[in-house]
Amino acid sequence: MDQNSPEVMTAIQTAIRASALCEKIRMDLAGGESLLKSDRSPVTIADYGSQAIICKLIRERFPDDTIVAEEDSKELRRSDRSRILEHIAGYVNAFIPVSSSEEVCSWIDFGSNSVSGRFWALDPIDGTKGFLRGDQYAIALALIEKGRVKLGILACPNLYADIHHPFGEKGCLFLALKGNGSFQMDRWGVNKRPIFVSKVTNPSEAVITESVEPDHADHLTHQRLAQKLNISKPSLRMDSQAKYGILARGEVTLYLRVPSSAEPGYKENIWDHAAGSIIAEEAGGRVTDVMGRPLDFSSGIKMEKNHGILVSNGILHEVVLKALKM
Ligand code: AMP
Ligand code: MG
Repeated sequence: MDQNSPEVMTAIQTAIRASALCEKIRMDLAGGESLLKSDRSPVTIADYGSQAIICKLIRERFPDDTIVAEEDSKELRRSDRSRILEHIAGYVNAFIPVSSSEEVCSWIDFGSNSVSGRFWALDPIDGTKGFLRGDQYAIALALIEKGRVKLGILACPNLYADIHHPFGEKGCLFLALKGNGSFQMDRWGVNKRPIFVSKVTNPSEAVITESVEPDHADHLTHQRLAQKLNISKPSLRMDSQAKYGILARGEVTLYLRVPSSAEPGYKENIWDHAAGSIIAEEAGGRVTDVMGRPLDFSSGIKMEKNHGILVSNGILHEVVLKALKM
């Protein structure tokens, strides 16, 4: 597989369309209060729409591949959900011609929840809470063969493209191919450039990124670790796998995800880390769990053999693992 392989082309094309759909929904609904509605319908529409588009294109081009994805159409097929389903079909139709609402359900259901020798892992909207808040979210897609991630793409529609202009142009795509490096493109898939992790060697100069949500990671343990390493810069809290992207482009040095004390036995989902992890690694970073073990993408939808996540620029990995054990 190289940069011009059909898998890479398909991944880029689906990510561009799905992120345009998500942004359209976010813009259409952001004016009123509906983005904060307790039934979370905007995010539902975007989640399902994004999954429909991506599954449809992958199944069309790679009919034998399994797609492991977060959603299925069961809820949508309920009679009281027909309006929402029509709404979704209307949005999807702007990107791929749709003949009926039923067809959209069938595309969503190309997704399954069991892994195989070669499969795609999809999170149609990662960082739902960020999407609802108008902060960061990502569309995350990875191709996994024999438990190893071969290709990863992250579309981050609301992420500043240039780290020196945080209020400038928004929307980036991160792409990595095993053995081929990591790249950032703009939201239309052009202006591709290689990206690299930071070269920070002194732990005290590191910058940590972590989840915004206290239920998703143990902020207090992260803070203690920062103190141990004499890190003075405040942690950058960000939703979604955009954290992997900003680490891969050298903006931060460490991504910590120690399981929250609210749910200490939590097992991570493969679609929450597959795409991000290859993007960080191919940019020169290292990705393990907080015990230093490689990430497990072969057991099923959950990373059963792992506990938390540690991503670094590689140079600082062992120092941080040691400090986490202390
Ligand atoms: P983030 O945006 O980094 O907070 O991560 C969002 C992801 O966290 C979601 O896609 C969920 O799958 C995942 N998640 C849900 N509950 C937990 C939990 N208790 N610990 C860690 N991650 C979680
Ligand atoms: Mg997710």
